[in-house]
Amino acid sequence: MSELRDRDPVIFDAIASERRRQLATLELIASENFASDAVLEALGSVMNNKYAEGLPRKRYYGGCEFVDVAEDAALERVGRLFGAEHANVQAHSGATANMAAYFAVADAGATLLGMSLAHGGHLTHGHAVSFSGRLFKAVQYGVRSEDGRIDYEQMEALAREHRPRIIVAGASAYPRVIDFERFGRIAREVGAALVVDMAHIAGLVAAGLHPSPVPHADLVTSTTHKTLRGPRGGFVLCRKAHAEKLDKTVFPMLQGGPLMHAIAAKAVCFGEALTDGFRAYQGRVVDNARALAASLEQHGFDLVSGGTDNHLVLVDLTRRSLTGKVAEEALHRARIPVNKNAVPNDPQKPWVTSGIRVGTPALTTRGFGVEEMRLIAGWIARVLDRPDDTDTARAVEREVSEVASKFPLFAWEPALR
Ligand SMILES: *Cc1c(COP(=O)(O)O)cnc(C)c1O
Repeated sequence: MSELRDRDPVIFDAIASERRRQLATLELIASENFASDAVLEALGSVMNNKYAEGLPRKRYYGGCEFVDVAEDAALERVGRLFGAEHANVQAHSGATANMAAYFAVADAGATLLGMSLAHGGHLTHGHAVSFSGRLFKAVQYGVRSEDGRIDYEQMEALAREHRPRIIVAGASAYPRVIDFERFGRIAREVGAALVVDMAHIAGLVAAGLHPSPVPHADLVTSTTHKTLRGPRGGFVLCRKAHAEKLDKTVFPMLQGGPLMHAIAAKAVCFGEALTDGFRAYQGRVVDNARALAASLEQHGFDLVSGGTDNHLVLVDLTRRSLTGKVAEEALHRARIPVNKNAVPNDPQKPWVTSGIRVGTPALTTRGFGVEEMRLIAGWIARVLDRPDDTDTARAVEREVSEVASKFPLFAWEPALR
């Protein structure tokens, strides 16, 4: 870092400030996490300098013998972690991983059935502003308004009616277990390829805390930086039958040279995810989410689907006459970052919304436990009872800072590792 301080103080200071911000706030954004120093060391390494178009031992450039070691390790470890027949770890992001999976089994113009963003799905599952809605004929399913659970009957009816080439299962804001077996059954019935996007829950799947999509899906996509706690990036798993097509779709169709420093960091992340310590961590993520949900309910908040099975909670603020935008801004002033989030059938616009999404992966990495979750629920209630009151925000911020200062970004648990 001293090199950077001397040569580029602007960026050195920005990074130092960002580190302080991460330490001083209570990160509840469900898609974020804190990668280990080992992951960050691989990410900030000379592997960045290497062009390695192609796959290990089949490269278009010389001098790839050591980046091959890193990519082979990533492939072997991710295969062991999820039990997949084939993997590609070169996708630069979750969005690119989805693009690769879709084009591995379909061409532009094909019909794609995915979960609506407004109901907890992702932009890349068929939203009009995304490539997935621009290049494919998108049909969207959602959740039932009674209980906030995926409307499997609606999804199946749409699948039979539209006979999509691709069915996408997976979500960004869905607090419940997803029945991948049921998705697999309808995909086989209508002759669709099932793509499961496990970006949010990959860590839980790796730890055996959410049923694995691998036995049911043709392709499984994921990010590496959410519950999996690695570098920002993506990967795709698939059956042998799709392997060649997938690899050719990632490169040369969609991407150029792979980010070998990111792939080295993915290998480190997958190695960490194979440890008992990681499995214990995921268990605490889920315990903390349950505790947070229960405490928020005790403070009178409505939760979409009434609770959580995974790492996140979706809070419906409609009855409090509060928008997600106002809540997000008020909590930000108290140093509690969350994101505004649409609730099912939300009357508000996407940049306003009627809900917030909170998740426990990041704070659990810092060593926060069930006791702290109760404190946090209390702080959220105090702030959102008086969202415009700066005195309340300041008082909560002082308590937040005191607790936050006691926890590192990445808490190692030597006893568990
Ligand atoms: C985060 C997410 C993505 C996109 O990942 P990026 O790395 O931001 O492109 C895709 N699908 C789901 C379900 C996600 O939650």
